[in-house]
Amino acid sequence: MNYNKKTVYDADVKGKKVLLRCDFNVPQNKETGEITSDKRIVAAIPTIRYLLDQGAAVIACSHLGKPKGEWKTKLTLAPVAKRLSELLGQEVIFASDIIGEDAQAKAAALQPGQIMLLENLRFDIREEKNGADFAKALADMAELFVSDAFGTVHRAHASTAGVAAYLPAYSGLLVDKELSIMGKALADPKRPFVAVLGGAKVSDKIAVINNLLEKADTIIIGGGMAYTFLKAQGKSIGKSLLEEDRLDYAREMIQKAADRGVKFLLPVDHLCAAEFAADAQPVAAEENIPDGLMGMDIGPKTAALYAEAVKGAGTIVWNGPMGVFEFDAFAGGTKAMAKAISESGAITIVGGGDSASAVEKLGFADKVTHISTGGGASLEFLEGKELPGVACLQDK
Ligand code: AMP
Repeated sequence: MNYNKKTVYDADVKGKKVLLRCDFNVPQNKETGEITSDKRIVAAIPTIRYLLDQGAAVIACSHLGKPKGEWKTKLTLAPVAKRLSELLGQEVIFASDIIGEDAQAKAAALQPGQIMLLENLRFDIREEKNGADFAKALADMAELFVSDAFGTVHRAHASTAGVAAYLPAYSGLLVDKELSIMGKALADPKRPFVAVLGGAKVSDKIAVINNLLEKADTIIIGGGMAYTFLKAQGKSIGKSLLEEDRLDYAREMIQKAADRGVKFLLPVDHLCAAEFAADAQPVAAEENIPDGLMGMDIGPKTAALYAEAVKGAGTIVWNGPMGVFEFDAFAGGTKAMAKAISESGAITIVGGGDSASAVEKLGFADKVTHISTGGGASLEFLEGKELPGVACLQDK
């Protein structure tokens, strides 16, 4: 997969209408619809500002929530237009439809330096189905396409990939940052390259582990998925999370690591509980977990071992917590890992989703090189899969 893509800086946007795919999928109060964090809108500003300053007319678009082709008033992008306008300090013209009369008239009248926002793309079922007529209608309003919603580049939707069949396509600054940092880490990492993988399930990370075994020097495993590997090695795991149907795969991966000379580290001690609860009493266990207990976090020896393993790394990619970090009593392992990673001096990349929220919750967000903004997209990136929303952009 080629991550070296043309960016907005390579495009001549002056006087042009630019269709800009943003990620305005903001969290909302379920009752009032109020935006509870404007982080994603703030993150979109640099690309928008650049385009407007260059004299482009910007037609912004995004999805919000999962309306699945239905017109749901609670999921209107109108509040996003309002917040965006406050942040930009200029009017954001809001279209009451996506490719309908209102959008088309407003797009046709849009002047350089002006910005408009289309209504929620997913109100039309053709967005997620990548309908060619829908993609073409979107594209027809503009002369260039800029993709700046990294969280959806793993989807082949009309606004993420389909429109690129009709318009020259460039990456925005957010997507470019993801591609240049994560793409470089995977294609040409500063070594030693250490991957730290955790989270609930082996099955979710199979392709990631398999791909990283071909690139990394060390793989560190924590979280619920460690127990399937430990069981595969003949250890007792009590009533810890186990995916029986992945035991053979776990053995294969351990063997693949050995064959390739990749260090494959598994927990050597644990913090356990009798039940999965926030107020469960933590019980320390050595390598083998007694019956009746489940592993909830890596133990102190493991935390020290893992901290040592990331010391001196050139690149660290981290995806998935080391334990049930949502419960304070079992957040210690994830916290120790976050601390060790942030002190390593390496290029540190935190995959989206739970590891990103763990790093933020634990206060290490400003101490890592990059926190990816995509959950599913970052995982597929680490899997080495072709991302349709990236593949469709022009190569440099
Ligand atoms: P993922 O989305 O795959 O990264 O998984 C994140 C989830 O894994 C978090 O909600 C954690 O609470 C959970 N998790 C981590 N360690 C364990 C464990 N030992 N047992 C059960 N769940 C875990």
